[in-house]
Amino acid sequence: MTPSMSEEHLVLLATGGTISSRTRADLGGAAVASDGADELLRSVGGAHAFPVQVVDVLRVGSYALDVDDMLLVCSRIREALADPSVVGVVVTHGTDTMEETAFLADLVQGDPRPVVFTGAQKAADAEDPDGPANLARAIALAGSAEAKGRGVLLSFAGEVFPARGVRKTETVRVHAFGNPDYGRDGSIADDGRLNLAAAKARRPAALPLPHPGAACRVDLVASYPGADGAHLRASLDAGAAGIVLQGTGIGNANPLLCQAVAEATAGGAVVVTSTRVNAGPVVPVYGAGGGKDLLAAGAIPSGFLRPSQSLVLLSLLLRLGSSREEIAAAFAERGGTG
Ligand code: ASP
Repeated sequence: MTPSMSEEHLVLLATGGTISSRTRADLGGAAVASDGADELLRSVGGAHAFPVQVVDVLRVGSYALDVDDMLLVCSRIREALADPSVVGVVVTHGTDTMEETAFLADLVQGDPRPVVFTGAQKAADAEDPDGPANLARAIALAGSAEAKGRGVLLSFAGEVFPARGVRKTETVRVHAFGNPDYGRDGSIADDGRLNLAAAKARRPAALPLPHPGAACRVDLVASYPGADGAHLRASLDAGAAGIVLQGTGIGNANPLLCQAVAEATAGGAVVVTSTRVNAGPVVPVYGAGGGKDLLAAGAIPSGFLRPSQSLVLLSLLLRLGSSREEIAAAFAERGGTG
């Protein structure tokens, strides 16, 4: 970390990802996270509205992160905001699991100061990297009064999204994110000009950060043609305390999976039903292994939360020691339309 500053400033937390990646000939041409926060800031050039203090948190591809790594990023955000001269925080992060870390950070964020995630689709050594412009816009957003009180934001390719509901929707295109259910907060131009919709009046209360070491296993299990209970039972055998079931359609499985879900909940595991579909809520409608049977088997519908963000919320709540009833209430509130 650079020496702390007493004047108003921003903090840039770097975690790796494509924005920091370079091609390594010694690794067969694989791209790996390489640049630290200092180099990332230098890549932007120019002057910013506030000085930027840089902190290296991690230097990895986000596909390799676990929930504890994500909680570490959240702790670093909290540490940064403990300093009253910090006006906002930018986190550079791989795009693969940015929707997880940004949502986790949002769940524990009670501070109105802006926290903005960004990254890149093209590596730092690409001919025309998108990282520097994304980072410049994220820095401008994090330093703006309009970004306050909105919870954690994701700024990418000129678009600004709330963390809740945001998803990586493109593997290659630079417009890599969408938020099918909760929409965009607005846009930010290359020169930092903002066009944001009015902020929501109320946000759910921030959840506490769990004590480090409060680890617990939460697995993602999919329903698909021919799925049975083998994966779910293997997760329980491996010690899973929670399961996110990636259902089909409106949140359905099949009779064999429903049976395994009933066994899991009877044994004290918490099961949440989400869906592989891009948009719309999970609603218990169908029998014969559908969502109504999953509900009867004790599974909690995720609302609008996709499997990725359901896993983050369930992991956090289980680490906090929440009961099944508290978890159901949290999904109803945070997975709803409010
Ligand atoms: N494609 C990813 C990225 O944008 C790799 C990762 O998630 O780290 O950074």
